[in-house]
Amino acid sequence: MAATELSNDMDVCDKVAFKPETEKPFKAKIVWFNAIGFLILHLGAVYGTYLALFAASWKTVIWTFIIGYLSAEGVTIGAHRMYTHKAFKGTYATRLVLNFLFTMAGQNCMWVWVRDHRQHHRYSDTVADPHDASKGFFFSHIGWLMYKKHPEVLAKGKNIDMSDIEKDEIVMFQKKYYKTLYVLISMAFPTLIPYYCWGESLFNSFMICYLARTFIVLNGTWCVNSWAHLYGVKPYNNDIYPMESEFVALISSGEGWHNFHHTFPWDFRAGEFGKHYNFSATVIAQLAKWGFAYDLKEAKPEMIKSRVLKNGDGTHPKQAHFQKGGEWAPWSAKVDSPAPPKRTSISHG
Ligand SMILES: [Zn+2]
Ligand SMILES: [Zn+2]
Repeated sequence: MAATELSNDMDVCDKVAFKPETEKPFKAKIVWFNAIGFLILHLGAVYGTYLALFAASWKTVIWTFIIGYLSAEGVTIGAHRMYTHKAFKGTYATRLVLNFLFTMAGQNCMWVWVRDHRQHHRYSDTVADPHDASKGFFFSHIGWLMYKKHPEVLAKGKNIDMSDIEKDEIVMFQKKYYKTLYVLISMAFPTLIPYYCWGESLFNSFMICYLARTFIVLNGTWCVNSWAHLYGVKPYNNDIYPMESEFVALISSGEGWHNFHHTFPWDFRAGEFGKHYNFSATVIAQLAKWGFAYDLKEAKPEMIKSRVLKNGDGTHPKQAHFQKGGEWAPWSAKVDSPAPPKRTSISHG
């Protein structure tokens, strides 16, 4: 396991000061095609949930949970921690599987997702942030996808460095054939398995395994942008919007430790208390043990402590302990995976 440690003097936040490039006043315009599409998705998903509870086979419900969880990890582990933040590196097989799972989630092509999220970190909660939480819960949750983009979002989006992503042939293949791949992987595959394997009706299967699942995973992801930017505590950095939200961590497989994440965005754990509502971190550590992930990055305990004392709002569980000069080691992939035993020479004779 190569858990890369970073030096204390490294610039921990990748946020930059926002300077506007456009001067014209901006009036938000609704993109009706998207707004109506989301309305249909949500109404269909409510009906799909009803069918899951009262009409479908239990096998279909279990299948929906499995693919829902796996597709969410395609977003969390793949798009977010591996590609956007380069918090660890994946082998070809890892990248292939994560791209497949991410496509199943139906959250646009990987290239666009990564660009938007890098921009979100760089210009967090300013008008250049695609889902600027200073505009409130609705806008940062779903509204941003229903409005024409602010000119600052468009202008600053062009400056986001995507050169590393453009070298990844799997991502570029997914970008080129996104619409076809979406129909095959996000719609057809989840719907046809219950139909062919245990005789679920095609209608039930589509409504539950495609519509309801997409709705649940999308809303889980959106809660990170809305809820975890508006409700919670800020033990690492009191000067930013993102907060620690146990609720969001629970529903998003560990993406709710958002004050930590925006303070140390390159940390593969995306939260200090690794295993607490953070199954994604456990999965990445396990992938590293099996050789499918490497170069895991972690914030050093002393970096975390210094941020807590310097910028935190005083709510860190070890606040008093830190103030008395105490130390504390957060959950680390390295602790769970001791170095391989040293080879000893065997003498024959
Ligand atoms: Zn955020
Ligand atoms: Zn992030």
